[in-house]
Amino acid sequence: MGYVDLHLHTTASDGVKSPSEIVRYAKSKGLQAISITDHDTIGGLEEGLAEGDRIGFEVIPGIEISAVHSPGSMHLLGYFINIHHPPLNERLKYLQRAREERNPRMVEKLNRLGVNITYEEVVRASGGGQVGRPHFAQVLIEKGYVRNFQEAFDRYLKKGAPAYVDKLRFTPREAIHFINEASGVAVLGHPNTLGLNGSTELENLTLSLLKEGLKGIEVYYPEHSSSEIGKYKALAEKHCLILTGGTDYHGIDKESLDVGVGRGEMKLPYSMVESLKAVRSRP
Ligand SMILES: [Zn+2]
Ligand SMILES: [Zn+2]
Repeated sequence: MGYVDLHLHTTASDGVKSPSEIVRYAKSKGLQAISITDHDTIGGLEEGLAEGDRIGFEVIPGIEISAVHSPGSMHLLGYFINIHHPPLNERLKYLQRAREERNPRMVEKLNRLGVNITYEEVVRASGGGQVGRPHFAQVLIEKGYVRNFQEAFDRYLKKGAPAYVDKLRFTPREAIHFINEASGVAVLGHPNTLGLNGSTELENLTLSLLKEGLKGIEVYYPEHSSSEIGKYKALAEKHCLILTGGTDYHGIDKESLDVGVGRGEMKLPYSMVESLKAVRSRP
């Protein structure tokens, strides 16, 4: 039995490798299976699945959906989703359109604040990929409005700052339902980013998500400390949830984090995939 990595990003969202590249790379690393889980898009799955078929390597169709949550951020992973499910495609397209309107709105706000930048400049800074706030920051620095990224975010771009426009997000309930409707298995991603204080808060949240159809928790994650891993594992086992894990590899900090192994500490057994499959086939 080999090892797996159930949390990977490609150029379809904000990763560096294309879907086919990441599939070939994972195989060359000796893994047995991976899941591609791009942010709010299934745009890379067709290519990734086809490459898996071509080279004889198991690729699990996945997604990572950002859900409404505060104070931290909630990401819900969906595994074995049917990528040809029309309602899922519709909803993701709607999300995409809303995001496309967000950036021009941030430019408008900046202009109203007396900052003279154009949307074209921000798009140019993104180099043709998904446009995000770091690209706004880059233009603000280049044009001398701020000295560095920190100042750009503090003065203009961070949540609550005058040029900030919130992203459209689904509620956790909607995200879980969309995953389930598309025959997927919903898993709570990296619980350490939720910003919750005690274990009681996390347990209550987990219970409410369970009622909506949550099936697992991403216990193994590079940013989880060993005590967090212990805590999440106990929580998952107590409520009969599946334990999953992945590196969240984007290909950006290549030297320190790699597919399948994280920073060297990860060994995720193929039995995780079998557990997901078993839940999926349960009526
Ligand atoms: Zn995430
Ligand atoms: Zn991720």
